[in-house]
Amino acid sequence: MRNISKEIFLSTLLCETMGWRLRNEEFSGPTPLSELTRGQRFRREQGIDIGIRARELFQDGVLIDEPTTELAATKTESVLNDRNVPAIFEAAFLLNGYATRSDVLRRRADQWDLFEVKSGVNDHKDYVDDLAYTAMVLSKCGIKIASAKLLLISREFRLGMDNPRLFNEIDHSDDILARLSEFDAKWETVDEATKNPIMPEPHPVWACRNCSFLKECVGNGIENPIFDIPRLSEKKFNDLVDSDILSIEAIPLSFALTENQDIVRAAVQTGNPVINDNLSSELHDLSWPVHYLDFETAVTAIPLYEEIAPYTQVPTQYSVHQSDRVGNISNHTEYLADPTKDSRFELAVNLINDLSGDGSIIVYSHFEKTIIIDLAKLYPQLGEQLSDLIERLVDMQTIMSKNYYHPAFKGSMSLKDILPVLVPELSYENLTIPDGGTALATFVYLATGRYQGEEADAEKQNLLDYCKQDTLALVKIHEQLSQLG
Ligand code: SF4
Repeated sequence: MRNISKEIFLSTLLCETMGWRLRNEEFSGPTPLSELTRGQRFRREQGIDIGIRARELFQDGVLIDEPTTELAATKTESVLNDRNVPAIFEAAFLLNGYATRSDVLRRRADQWDLFEVKSGVNDHKDYVDDLAYTAMVLSKCGIKIASAKLLLISREFRLGMDNPRLFNEIDHSDDILARLSEFDAKWETVDEATKNPIMPEPHPVWACRNCSFLKECVGNGIENPIFDIPRLSEKKFNDLVDSDILSIEAIPLSFALTENQDIVRAAVQTGNPVINDNLSSELHDLSWPVHYLDFETAVTAIPLYEEIAPYTQVPTQYSVHQSDRVGNISNHTEYLADPTKDSRFELAVNLINDLSGDGSIIVYSHFEKTIIIDLAKLYPQLGEQLSDLIERLVDMQTIMSKNYYHPAFKGSMSLKDILPVLVPELSYENLTIPDGGTALATFVYLATGRYQGEEADAEKQNLLDYCKQDTLALVKIHEQLSQLG
């Protein structure tokens, strides 16, 4: 059985069964870097990098990096007692089955300032809960906390600035007081519920929608859980659970759903795709030649280029397929930025050229529209031409959400989930870059010099292949829908 961690404690407050499972399941530590996808690896590395940069705010701090929690807790105790140490990084605490690590503790006479480092820019209730959990365990261990603060990424940071300017300090000392007393009251009950040899009886709760145990727990044997209903509200979820309804098959027709939700119910209950009459007319409204557009972007905490705020969506490449009639590709153009510099202006100019003329521009989701709007704001001299492109955009995902649903979509309208159902012969499996996260990480690694020479050339080609596959998928999906509508 594991010690209670922040994740186990907060999960138990949502659902005792989830907390119990987390505490009692086999856990061999975080997945090794070598077993992560490139996209996951990049996110892990970025988090580690931010943690290291945050330490620069605290002079002469001591890092607790012992290999086990027990050893780390012992080392922490001795460093806490050394009054010459002004700050401690990754201090470890263990008490009666509870464990935690604090990102930074800064000594203030007999008290301590507690800091939690986050990779996000926006303050969030969950961050306060994280901070409150750590503060609770520290308080129980006899640590006097003078203040509790978050270090978030500052939107004002720009490449080249000192690390201390990367962070925005938010004092939550007052906010965590209320949370602390709530958590404190649960100290015993969480421990008892999660160390009991018998797993607590599960009951469907709103937290089930994001729970990794759903399929083996209350969702066991349910092929189409009610969470597959798009945008299901918590109120509707509770109404259904009150009637013992957990599967879409069991939702009565008298239960009010929105138009888009009703399509999903109808498809699941009949076992057949639902095709609305409007599908055909909306597809017929397209003007030809039709273009299919997809962007890839780089979004990073530490900006890749000067004058860019953290987490700015920087478009780095696009693919455009053009068809003169359904399913018939008449042209393909593409663009991949030079990773060593901010190429957004060049990308925008090329995009305008590649989409010149008339005809609808099909995209999948609002993402492409957002990118073009941002480019128009950034380069007012291209504003009129970019606005013209926006006028021609048609979102295929919106058309589908209103007019078409296949029971095999399993609640997802994402391109990667609908493609195997509609166009099974077109797969991403043989591509070196199979998803957007890997594409993002690949571009960042190119921009930061991790790939060089032939390897860099090969990765650039992989990026082009991936983006091209996305727009080819749109061509094929359009073809399939045309045959249905
Ligand atoms: S699926 Fe629901 S009931 Fe089961 S452990 Fe998860 S949150 Fe709890």
